[in-house]
Amino acid sequence: MKKKSASLRTAQPRPQRARGASSKTTRASVPTAPHALPLHKAPIHPGSILSSTQLTVEGVSKILALASDLESEAVRTRELRLHKRRVSLLFYESSTRTRTSFELAAKSLGADTVLVSALSSSIEKGESLKDTGITLRSLGAECIILRHPSSGAPYLLAQATGLPILNAGDGIHEHPSQALLDLRTILYRCFGAKQARSVTEKSLRGMTIAIVGDIFHSRVARSNALLLPKLGARVLFCGPQPLLPEHAADIGPGVSIERDFDRALQQADVVMMLRVQQERLSGLQLDLENYTRRYQLDAARLAAQAPRALVLHPGPIIRGMEITSEVADGPQSAIEEQVHHGLAIRMALLTRALETPATPSARKKTRR
Ligand code: ASP
Ligand code: ASP
Repeated sequence: MKKKSASLRTAQPRPQRARGASSKTTRASVPTAPHALPLHKAPIHPGSILSSTQLTVEGVSKILALASDLESEAVRTRELRLHKRRVSLLFYESSTRTRTSFELAAKSLGADTVLVSALSSSIEKGESLKDTGITLRSLGAECIILRHPSSGAPYLLAQATGLPILNAGDGIHEHPSQALLDLRTILYRCFGAKQARSVTEKSLRGMTIAIVGDIFHSRVARSNALLLPKLGARVLFCGPQPLLPEHAADIGPGVSIERDFDRALQQADVVMMLRVQQERLSGLQLDLENYTRRYQLDAARLAAQAPRALVLHPGPIIRGMEITSEVADGPQSAIEEQVHHGLAIRMALLTRALETPATPSARKKTRR
């Protein structure tokens, strides 16, 4: 059969600093409103979740326990938790799962939500991230959930507004709520509901989590690699050179590289498949046929190399590329469960964000 060589190409390198992320907004004084943030940067609100690096084992346990409590709480009681509190979702990139589950999580806690997305707001007119954040705060937002194409954007928003910020994915940097929901899925499936309430440094000891595919562009891979080894897991990155540079293993302890997919599968208790992020390839060419042959998880490969491993995928899935439908919908897959756990984790993160008091110095600089 004649070999067709498909290539992936994007027309333009994607700018890593999208407009607004590094704001050149004049720092000239205008703070007339009592709540306006003056010239200083506010300290990051301790209710924020910006990165897996900030999560301690104890902190993760609190989030897991809260997620379980909220999940089992009566609907009416739960709705009073954040009754009428104001949560803004600020999305500069498309999203289905993350946005919907944050929104549903907020609503099921009784909060009011406002969605601001890039295509239907002044963001389109070039309003900076900082100005948008300050506007939302002036309108009463008490917490902002941010997805942004620039790595680091949530830090800027946190400092500009002093509000608790939940990072829903920033560029190729992090997606910490995804790592937490992946963790909850692993704990539930491998150890049961009771064990999914808390963790220790040894909870995942002896387990190998293989993360496979486009590691380089994956904020999901990064957040998981920074979180799971804290609980004793070994993370094995697997993928071709252009999508998995050698230095990726330097991200932290407990992370190593195995280029051969079959060998990675043989060691894996959990295999997390990733989509090739075409929108971030910035001109990088990839032989897709070759990639699919080497790294696709299909039923035969899974049965031969990892018949007991749990299969995860953060979505969106490109069926027939990194994973076949048979595997994605098969008995080893927990992909739908991941979405379900996302709701509980995001309820916990929102409750934590809105119930954690600001540091005293931050309170002085903002109205609260
Ligand atoms: N990017 C995926 C989606 O759009 C999941 C996410 O939102 O994180 O569904
Ligand atoms: N949903 C994940 C994210 O937003 C992964 C992906 O988009 O492929 O990072």
